[in-house]
Amino acid sequence: MQRQIFTEEHDAFRETVRTFLAKEVLPHYEQWEKDGIVSREAWRAAGRQGLLGLAVPEEYGGGGNTDFRYSAVLAEEFTRAGVSGLALGLHNDIIGPYLTGLGTEEQKRRWLPGFCSGETITAIAMTEPGAGSDLQGIRTAAEDKGDHWLLNGSKTFISNGILADLVIVVAKTSPEGGAKGLSLLVVERGAEGFERGRNLDKIGQKSQDTAELFFDDVRVPKENLLGELDGAFVHLMTNLAQERMGIAVAGIAAAEHLLEITTRYVKEREAFGRPLSKLQHIRFEIAEMATECAVTRTFLDRCIVDHSEGTLDAVHASMAKWWATELQKRVADRCLQLHGGYGYMTEYRVAKAFTDGRIQTIYGGTTEIMKEIIGRSLLA
Ligand SMILES: Cc1cc2nc3c(=O)[nH]c(=O)nc-3n(C[C@H](O)[C@H](O)[C@H](O)COP(=O)(O)OP(=O)(O)OC[C@H]3O[C@@H](n4cnc5c(N)ncnc54)[C@H](O)[C@@H]3O)c2cc1C
Repeated sequence: MQRQIFTEEHDAFRETVRTFLAKEVLPHYEQWEKDGIVSREAWRAAGRQGLLGLAVPEEYGGGGNTDFRYSAVLAEEFTRAGVSGLALGLHNDIIGPYLTGLGTEEQKRRWLPGFCSGETITAIAMTEPGAGSDLQGIRTAAEDKGDHWLLNGSKTFISNGILADLVIVVAKTSPEGGAKGLSLLVVERGAEGFERGRNLDKIGQKSQDTAELFFDDVRVPKENLLGELDGAFVHLMTNLAQERMGIAVAGIAAAEHLLEITTRYVKEREAFGRPLSKLQHIRFEIAEMATECAVTRTFLDRCIVDHSEGTLDAVHASMAKWWATELQKRVADRCLQLHGGYGYMTEYRVAKAFTDGRIQTIYGGTTEIMKEIIGRSLLA
């Protein structure tokens, strides 16, 4: 089915992203995968190309365009290219809204120009060794010391954890407050007592630096409080819908791309004297996946438009997230099976997509948590 949500401007932007990937990313990607991290230069190149801070107001160096369809194009093209390490989506769509939406004028002037140029790489640190799905279990705490906060604790699984120059840390500021006692504190590179742990060894997304972070008596200036004191929970709930949409968009794009690759493969690969595609079982496999992708695409495109117009609610973002990423997982598994032994070889796209994509049903809120959000809204 013809997609109807993009204009000529979006198509032109898609070309820009493709050119950027071909010139600045793909020639280096194999090396980044070996290194376990991307180069800072790639971030600066993204800044020069106008791919950072798409929604940041122009006065701070951004694109000034809050149309989420541009973010969707970026996510789709990165997914099709098999690029997971250079986390522009995380920076733009997940962290950007916290800085633009909650930052004071002074904070925006301090942080956003570097955010948009690629000089300042960002991360958000919610998860801890003992608290992932249940953010009420956060133990990292900041004590009010008059002119600064004294931050202690640790975080884990933080994307961009090694490269990040600016980390939004979720910390307890009111010990008795539970979820209502959490705040967002911005910790900057070089702060005394802020250490990074290992670049964690993952089964996929090898060029993405995912790390532990440690805070030992870190003095965080009072002017680095982002948003309301004790207001983090509400801020997180507001912004997580966009995070989930970004993941869902990548999910359906990955499924469609895998289907495309596999459809080609089964036409070429022969067994028992004829192409695999002549076998009814194979045709049914392809037919089922194509149907599921088409149905999901229709829902996702509607969600993309609704989100661009500001009308998508958290429940529908959760539906999009769990459905598209579970579809991605099923399609990756079935497509790998259809490739036979070659599907298990890392040089084949389908193998990498299988391991790179596996995290999609876990981060940004697991499938089970998405169903909790949807179920609660229906059964309250
Ligand atoms: C590669 C990678 C990148 C990440 N990037 C970041 C990042 O940048 N910043 C950040 O803060 N975090 C990040 N995370 C963390 C990620 O968001 C968490 O791993 C995720 O939220 C799950 O938390 P957990 O690992 O503690 O699992 P747990 O919360 O311990 O869950 C374990 C299992 O129990 C299930 N479960 C938990 N509660 C319920 C419930 N109420 N009902 C039913 N089932 C339940 C879960 O669905 C899951 O299947 C990243 C993780 C990875 C692996």
